[in-house]
Amino acid sequence: MTIPATREPAAPDMLRRAGLRVTAQRAAVLDALSGTPHAAVDELHEYVQERIPGIALQTVHGIVNDLTAAGIAQRVSLPGAASALYELARADNHHHVQCVVCGRVEDVECVVGEAPCLAPSQTHDMRILEAAITFRGVCSSCDS
Ligand SMILES: [Zn+2]
Ligand SMILES: [Zn+2]
Repeated sequence: MTIPATREPAAPDMLRRAGLRVTAQRAAVLDALSGTPHAAVDELHEYVQERIPGIALQTVHGIVNDLTAAGIAQRVSLPGAASALYELARADNHHHVQCVVCGRVEDVECVVGEAPCLAPSQTHDMRILEAAITFRGVCSSCDS
C-alpha cells in the first residue's frame, strides 16, 4: 500500500499553522489522512506504519484526537459506521454518499455552497447551524 500524492499543503505547514509542534509522527498521520479521506484510525495506523515502523495504534489514536481538537481533522459521522471515520477539516459543508454494501464513502459537494444547505420544514425554534446529510446507495462495483 502506498500513500497517494496529496493535494493539500504540506503536513508540517498545516501543523505549524494550527499551533501544533511538528513531529514526524504527526506529519505521517496527517499525510495518511490527506491520502485516504474517510479513514478509520486503524486504517491510518496501517499507512503510518510504513513510514514509522512499530508506531502504536494508541499513538495514532492520540494524534488523530490532537488533530481533531486543533481543527485540522474532523470526524465524519455516518449512520451505522462500524468505527469513527476521519478526514481533513474543510469548512465547505460537504456531505457524503455511502455504499450500503461495501461501506465506500465519497464526498458530495454542498448543494448551495454553505451550511445548512437544507431548510427543515420545522425548526422547533432552534437556530439551524448545519444539516448533516448522508446519501446512502449502492456503488457500481457492488451493483453489478
Ligand atoms: Zn459498494
Ligand atoms: Zn468527506
